[in-house]
Amino acid sequence: MPELPEVTTVAKILNREIKNLTITDSMIFYTKLLKNVDITTFKAAVKNQKIVEVTNYAKYIAIKLEDWVLISHLRMEGKWMIEEANSYSYDQKHLEAQLALSNGKFARYYDTRKFGTLELYSVDTYKNSPSLVKLGPIPGQLGATSEYLYSKTKRSRKAIKTLLLDQTVVAGLGNIYVNEVLFATKMSPEEPANNLTLQDCKNLMKASKEILSKAIELGGTTIHTFKSSVEVEGNYQEHLKVHLRAGHPCFNCGFKIAKNFVNGRGTYYCPKCQILKK
Ligand SMILES: [Zn+2]
Repeated sequence: MPELPEVTTVAKILNREIKNLTITDSMIFYTKLLKNVDITTFKAAVKNQKIVEVTNYAKYIAIKLEDWVLISHLRMEGKWMIEEANSYSYDQKHLEAQLALSNGKFARYYDTRKFGTLELYSVDTYKNSPSLVKLGPIPGQLGATSEYLYSKTKRSRKAIKTLLLDQTVVAGLGNIYVNEVLFATKMSPEEPANNLTLQDCKNLMKASKEILSKAIELGGTTIHTFKSSVEVEGNYQEHLKVHLRAGHPCFNCGFKIAKNFVNGRGTYYCPKCQILKK
């Protein structure tokens, strides 16, 4: 599943490849991809619109047109590809949408799991869309202070890992990077949030910012089938300290990294370094 660094990489690549091109036509092959608009309205809206910019808000990709904004969420396996007319990177049965571009190429959206979504908003309303309006601050960006996080943790008895994965609390941390952040701060993933001190929140925000910015710099983490594009793969997997390392020695203490599940998510941690507070 792509997380913030991977989605940031995808948005950067798309921006480089399709910014300033015009959408000459569009095709939707999987109706349920569109969440808030029907196919006819969608096709009419995007036709002959210039692509002004592609960026991302946490894990939402925003393809900004002159009058409209397409909000794309890749969920588990969604992929945007820029391709020649007759060149398909994946089996065409997974092709859900394509935008024909003024340079003769196509921006194609493939999704083997069919969980990804595409929404259409006017440029005036997209920031108030249900998807974007609920997002919490992104570590390292405006509003993501330790005081803010502390105001959330002290009112919750959820496991800290579960709270950090809640995108309305903090946006941009997914399973991989939460595992890494909790290891870096030597905090048990199952620590009840209301046991955290302000200093703990300071440590969490600092580690989140550092780990996410390093991962973004390296283009994200390439694991399993996720690739941000055919040519580009992330390199952060070489820097993972705990994620996917069950049974291997902890880099701090040498004890074996363990794996369990917190709220259904695969959780890697060092049982010696990351102990519950008393
Ligand atoms: Zn350890």
